[in-house]
Amino acid sequence: MANSLPSEFDLIAKHFTRPAANAVLGVGDDAALVDVSNGMDLAVSTDTMVQGTHFFPDVHPENLGHKALAVNLSDMAAMGAMPYWAMLALTLPAVDDAWLAAFSKGFFDLAGEFNVSLIGGDTTRGPLSLTVTIMGEVPAGAALRRSGAKAGNDIWVSGNIGDAALAVAHRNGKLVLTEADYHEAVMRLYEPTPRVGLGQALRGMATAAIDVSDGLLADLGHICRLSGVGATVDAASIPLSAIGARHVASLEGLTAIVAGGDDYELCFTAPANARESIQDLTDMLNIPLTRIGQVRRGKGVSLIGPDGKPLKIDGRGYDHFSGP
Ligand code: ADP
Ligand code: MG
Repeated sequence: MANSLPSEFDLIAKHFTRPAANAVLGVGDDAALVDVSNGMDLAVSTDTMVQGTHFFPDVHPENLGHKALAVNLSDMAAMGAMPYWAMLALTLPAVDDAWLAAFSKGFFDLAGEFNVSLIGGDTTRGPLSLTVTIMGEVPAGAALRRSGAKAGNDIWVSGNIGDAALAVAHRNGKLVLTEADYHEAVMRLYEPTPRVGLGQALRGMATAAIDVSDGLLADLGHICRLSGVGATVDAASIPLSAIGARHVASLEGLTAIVAGGDDYELCFTAPANARESIQDLTDMLNIPLTRIGQVRRGKGVSLIGPDGKPLKIDGRGYDHFSGP
């Protein structure tokens, strides 16, 4: 309790206590209680967001509430899991009622969309930091892991890639977006759409999956490392928004698109005989799904340019502890 805010309990009651329909016991006791269904594995994941590292200080708190939950829902999506329960550990420099109201609106609006209940958390004073833990269920043995990609599999990606990173690159002075493009791209950064339904639909179809948070090439690299394979990506086939298409020809633009991250799209691998079923998902879920390359023997991810030659991209994705 040493770090507690003065009105910690009022704050929790007012901003973070909502009925938890799908839990045995929600906010208020020493621990929450949940009932995991028979034949299901409990999928658990946690993600922290720190000011300066994960978001700009001027981000609107409603966007922050959305994003803190969205990045965690995205992890459930990447496992093919159905999210049910979330925990929120909040460290706040001060109690700002308007800030908290906006933050919790962003959080609960998204939670409501996915029927996720906030069942507990922790609230302390300190530099702004947000940690969400998400829990969900996946049929035992059916989770989409990073380790199942096989040589010859297709590599797929959902939605389009790069807008969030282009907004970051603009903010960091690496390239210049028009004002209209920046406003559109920055919403992809602040309000990513977790592909929860797609993740579940890919169970039994995808051989490996990951959500694109650190950068397309880096995240695909994680699949390759854990699967003991390599990958070849055809740069021209990476799905782009109109904004992405306007910047892909520059090195800074291409670097942001393939190495920037924060897209929260799913990158997955699947055998060629699943192509038709995967295309059907595009119509069923109304999410574009695009083949961007092939899994091969060997290791590492190569990006092939329009001339058929490998492109050298500086930037291996976001790594909190790598040197400059
Ligand atoms: P303890 O002293 O046992 O850690 P707390 O006083 O931290 O308990 O929390 C009281 C209750 O409020 C607990 O059920 C906890 O899970 C919940 N809680 C605390 N902070 C949050 C938060 N930010 N969001 C949701 N629930 C919270
Ligand atoms: Mg506590």
